[in-house]
Amino acid sequence: MKSFIALLSASAALAGVPASAQLLPKADTVDPTVPTQLPRTAIPHHYAISVTPHAQRLAFDGRVVIDLEVIRPTKELVLNAADLKIASALLRSGKGGAPLTGRVSVNDDAQTLTISFPRSVPTGAYTLTILYSGKINTQANGLFALDYKNKEGKNARSLFSQFEAADARRFVPSWDEPDYKATFDLTARVPANEMAVSNMPATSSRNVAGGLKEVRFQRTPIMSSYLLFFASGDFERVAKPAGGREVGIVVSRGNGSKAHYALDAEAQILPYFNDYFGTPYPLPKLDNVAGPGQSQFFSAMENWGAIFTFEYAILDDPAITTEAQRQDIFATEAHEMAHQWFGDLVTMAWWDDLWLNEGFASWMENKTTQHFHPDWGAEIDRVGSREGAMGLDALNSTHPVVQQVRTVEQANQAFDSISYSKGESVIAMLEDFAGPSVWREGIRRYVAAHAHQNTRTTDLWAAQEAAGAHGLSVVAKDFTTQPGIPLITVAPSQCVNGSTVTALTQTQFSADRREEAAARPLAWHVPVKATAGSTAAQVVTAGRTTRLTVPGCGPLLVNAGQTGYYRTLYTPQQSAVLAARVPQLPAADQYGLIANSVSLSLAGYQPMATGLDFLSAMPANGNAKVVQRIIGRWDDLYDRLDGAPATQAMIAARAQHDFGPRLQQLRFVPRAGEPAVDALLRPTLIGTLGKYRDPRVLAEASWLFAAWQQNPDAIAGSLKATWLGVIARNADQAAWTAIRAKAQATNSAIERATLYRLLGRAKDDRLARQALELALTDEPGKTVSSGLITAVAEQHPRMAIDFVLAHLAQVNQLIDISGRSRFMQRLAASSRDPALIPVLEAYAKANLGESDRKPVQQAIDRIRSESVQAARIRAETGAWLAAHPQG
Ligand SMILES: [Zn+2]
Repeated sequence: MKSFIALLSASAALAGVPASAQLLPKADTVDPTVPTQLPRTAIPHHYAISVTPHAQRLAFDGRVVIDLEVIRPTKELVLNAADLKIASALLRSGKGGAPLTGRVSVNDDAQTLTISFPRSVPTGAYTLTILYSGKINTQANGLFALDYKNKEGKNARSLFSQFEAADARRFVPSWDEPDYKATFDLTARVPANEMAVSNMPATSSRNVAGGLKEVRFQRTPIMSSYLLFFASGDFERVAKPAGGREVGIVVSRGNGSKAHYALDAEAQILPYFNDYFGTPYPLPKLDNVAGPGQSQFFSAMENWGAIFTFEYAILDDPAITTEAQRQDIFATEAHEMAHQWFGDLVTMAWWDDLWLNEGFASWMENKTTQHFHPDWGAEIDRVGSREGAMGLDALNSTHPVVQQVRTVEQANQAFDSISYSKGESVIAMLEDFAGPSVWREGIRRYVAAHAHQNTRTTDLWAAQEAAGAHGLSVVAKDFTTQPGIPLITVAPSQCVNGSTVTALTQTQFSADRREEAAARPLAWHVPVKATAGSTAAQVVTAGRTTRLTVPGCGPLLVNAGQTGYYRTLYTPQQSAVLAARVPQLPAADQYGLIANSVSLSLAGYQPMATGLDFLSAMPANGNAKVVQRIIGRWDDLYDRLDGAPATQAMIAARAQHDFGPRLQQLRFVPRAGEPAVDALLRPTLIGTLGKYRDPRVLAEASWLFAAWQQNPDAIAGSLKATWLGVIARNADQAAWTAIRAKAQATNSAIERATLYRLLGRAKDDRLARQALELALTDEPGKTVSSGLITAVAEQHPRMAIDFVLAHLAQVNQLIDISGRSRFMQRLAASSRDPALIPVLEAYAKANLGESDRKPVQQAIDRIRSESVQAARIRAETGAWLAAHPQG
């Protein structure tokens, strides 16, 4: 829809605004072959933005002066704007003369603003001045508000911005696409007692009328619009020098003491990255700004020089933060800081290559964690990421890592586990293929060659080849431009002259179209690493069958080290030998091998018995991180057996028998100085055994719950969510009401959100409905409610989905605009009910454009594929459990 707004003229309001004297850099830096909404007739070089927020009425006034260059004579300028009211706009030539007048119109669907002129505008330098006003949102899109209770228990509101992928246009009319890089000057008028934060340090601050102050920030380097940031609130900042710059954490006043853990992480990581990337961090400071509340779709955002992170992912609060969350604080810092180079300094040209940002940052986050915290078992998390990606990548509705993005909605949907986790896994595989030092040299060359510019995926491969990673491009291309997972089938092996000799046949692994994938598989060059003794061998598969010779004649382990992105199907004999070997393998191989085999069994490539033999081969007293993952696998099976209570009871009994002693050994309370992985395993054991109604766990939970109601410190902060989770799951009305009363009373935004989410965990139908009703009230808070609905969906997916469909307009107000199409996929995540498929199909048809239905289609494909296998899995698992009673 295109609606007419106003006639442009040289209005009085704009008289006296000087044209920028800035010298314009060379013209067409924009790649014309990149698909885009905007016609490539003009290039912005500099934005001078002045903004005055009106926090109480959720609105703001803005003025922007854009220095631009018209590169083709044109009768209209088209830029992006969404939800903005344009008061006036004026174009002046850099050569002087009368301002050009034209008509302004907006297209709400295309999110564009068009200024049409009666005559063609000649090429050259211009200044475009626009006066406008906009909305402050209550979800994380554009400029948005987060409400909370301050230190004194009073209601307070802070403002933040969130512009990725395409929401800078809600803040400023702009060429809001990543390859239109420009410099930015920001000036903000905020309440005199607040702190304003942006990408760069402030250059000046002066009091102005109305109890306000005007804060000007230094000019940014050239950068993409989605990286601009602004926040204002009753903040405090902790900071220290690191890596030749200043790092800081900005928090709501009173939270400074909870910011030191993140600050220390930031200070530790910056010099490491300065070295790794070979180009020092280019801005004068790096802040991370904490906001109360949450989004259903992201926890932090890499704005250049001013990362934004929701409080739960950055504050270390001894009253509620779990060990897993503490480790996530470090990982989140590493991820967002990696983006300061990979994304901010060097930016993908278009969203097709979003994975370059996200896959790389996810990989670097894990690498950094392994570097600084080798005892955290991050190498096992990397295998976990691979498995997570494969869950989606095994479905027909998957997509390649490098994908086609044509709409804003598709750009939003690109932030999925293929971009993040498959991207991470493929990079881990390529680093292993190149060797870590060659790979790092390739990264250094890539960053140096493309600093302050835009790139495509192939630019990274070229830099790697130039650094010495010969043959990498071929492998990289296969894994990034094709969807899906290679399946390597291992032939019976022989021992020849002290080496193991076998043949590898390559097809494609699929969870929902096994025969089709076998008949017409895609083909990859797969680097396969294998061991059969002490020395590993590596081949790159080419064609259908590849011969493999490995030194030694011990058990043949394919994908040794678990950096390969493929599934391995062994012969029954090879599987039996390997399963017996599990206790002796390195931890990452233990988990990788078990997960590989269980997935093949679930998809029907081999009997369930083979996967279960591997699953039960992991010793309960083994590596805590692997044990934690293995319990998760058993629990996934437990959930798949819904409707077969006798078989479920066998799994529960088995878990109690095998893992109960591990919990007794760890005890119910954290011990000072215990290994971090023990602190992670304990809540998993408590939560899972509590779910299986282990009497000891339930008794302890009841006792602690009673004590906590008298004294909030009765439960260790790091286990509060775990123990209360056991109570919440089995809650009656009295327990539910007691948790709600505590949620209402607390001043901690993190604790409050945690407790409200727990109210959605009840198994009881009536309480679940009560939680859904509560989510639509103002009580939980604007950004907390959607988490409550998601929590209900874990136990009651159908109930939650029916409820959301019945209140869709209201629920949409509770979710980021950019996340609405993915919310339904999230709600369906724990459902295995084929009756839900037509409901999801009808929802997609009624509410989503045809090209925007991928997330819902993925949910449908998963439910369908799991329901096809359900009867077989149930029967075979029941038989295996009956034949293998625990010792
Ligand atoms: Zn990221």
